[in-house]
Amino acid sequence: MVKTRFAPSPTGYLHLGNARTAIFSYLFARHHGGGFVLRIEDTDRERSKREYEEMLLRDLEWLGIEWDEFYRQSERFDIYREYVNKLLESGHAYPCFCTPEELDREREEAQRRGVAYRYSGKCRHLSPEEVEKLKREGKSFTIRFRVPDGRNIIFEDLVKGHISINADDFGDFVIVRSDGSPTYNFVVVVDDALMGITHVVRGEDHIPNTPKQILIYEALGFEVPKFAHLPVILGEDRSKLSKRHGAVSVMNYREEGYLPEALFNYLCLLGWSPPGTEREIFSKEEFIKLFDLKDVNSAPAVFNREKLRWMNGVYIREVVSLERLYESALPFLKRAGYDVSDEEYVKRVLERTRDAYDTFSEMVEKLRPFFVDDVKIPPELWSRLEDMRSYEVLSAFLEKLKDRDIDTPEEVKKLAKEIQKELGVKPKEIWHSLRIALTGQLEGVGIDVLLSTLPKERIAYRIRRVLERIS
Ligand code: GLU
Repeated sequence: MVKTRFAPSPTGYLHLGNARTAIFSYLFARHHGGGFVLRIEDTDRERSKREYEEMLLRDLEWLGIEWDEFYRQSERFDIYREYVNKLLESGHAYPCFCTPEELDREREEAQRRGVAYRYSGKCRHLSPEEVEKLKREGKSFTIRFRVPDGRNIIFEDLVKGHISINADDFGDFVIVRSDGSPTYNFVVVVDDALMGITHVVRGEDHIPNTPKQILIYEALGFEVPKFAHLPVILGEDRSKLSKRHGAVSVMNYREEGYLPEALFNYLCLLGWSPPGTEREIFSKEEFIKLFDLKDVNSAPAVFNREKLRWMNGVYIREVVSLERLYESALPFLKRAGYDVSDEEYVKRVLERTRDAYDTFSEMVEKLRPFFVDDVKIPPELWSRLEDMRSYEVLSAFLEKLKDRDIDTPEEVKKLAKEIQKELGVKPKEIWHSLRIALTGQLEGVGIDVLLSTLPKERIAYRIRRVLERIS
């Protein structure tokens, strides 16, 4: 059975690159009817924070990524110790008593000679007696993996293709730090093997780690999984996507009012596309059906914020149900302080205005006139009202409203036409007068949509307030 995992370190917010890794890993597992593991890699006690872990879980859930198994590495130290002992017993690992100062000197020396640094292997040949003696003396030590000399490690990456790295490039590496904590390259192997991971899907920044991990798999007699290293994501300027490019965490997008379905859809297409179609909008189920690692582009993908925004707009306008739109938009309307107690009214507003915005933060601004009666009219628009025959227009409108219902934009337009004829004013004078009186702006959602949605008494209230000031 196929089994994949997502293994974030809780040292920061979930950013778009990691979210895409999680999605690809998840889709691949589900495509094959397999399992998906979420593993929190919190062995770095100083940088790992519970609040980051909570945010990660929340963001993943929000995106609709469900996991079948959950682990936290900090709770598995006994297991790691057991496997360290195995490696020590079989001679694949050895204690290293070199001090940080000695290692620094080695590193500086390599730098001076202009060669890549690798550990000299000084402690490789300590006899068991020497080791015992140094331990008795209370010398602190790390544990290193004994890398076979001259070994070429080759693997077929499912995305990047044939990869070959010589073990001499890195030398014996630390698997347990001097404080007793195991390192990433070691625990990741123990975990992936014990958890039955068949395909390791992760960012290409981990390619240099993979040969080290393969050596540990072999030393422990574990089957080596398949690897799929995903290309980095770039910003529009072709440098690695980072904070410099603006919002890059999933949380930013949630707070800005993106729909998780839209962000999921956008991230799926970041470096992958289903063969033989130009279509861009798919449901999660369709992605699961279509996804294959072999169609992942091995070149970096470029993040396009405008495209993501456009896609969010498509989801808001055309894809999600009104019910879903309502439940997603509601927290934003509430946070803006709008009165949302009349559910039917809120839904009517959303239904009629969903083509007016691309995100919920934009929605909050655009929908203000539907919720706020205390219209603020800037001085320059007051003078506009006074220049036009606004008093007559608004009075006529108010008068006609008394025994008329205007429930559709068509009825509003008909009413405006009547006023135009009766008073001999220009259409612009009518629409501008109404727009300024009702919204305090000259732009925004169609005034006919607003007037046919807003309850009559609220229209009347706003018009009366304006009439009092221009009379
Ligand atoms: N914890 C690692 C990271 O966040 C994941 C490594 C892996 O997937 O093997 O980069």
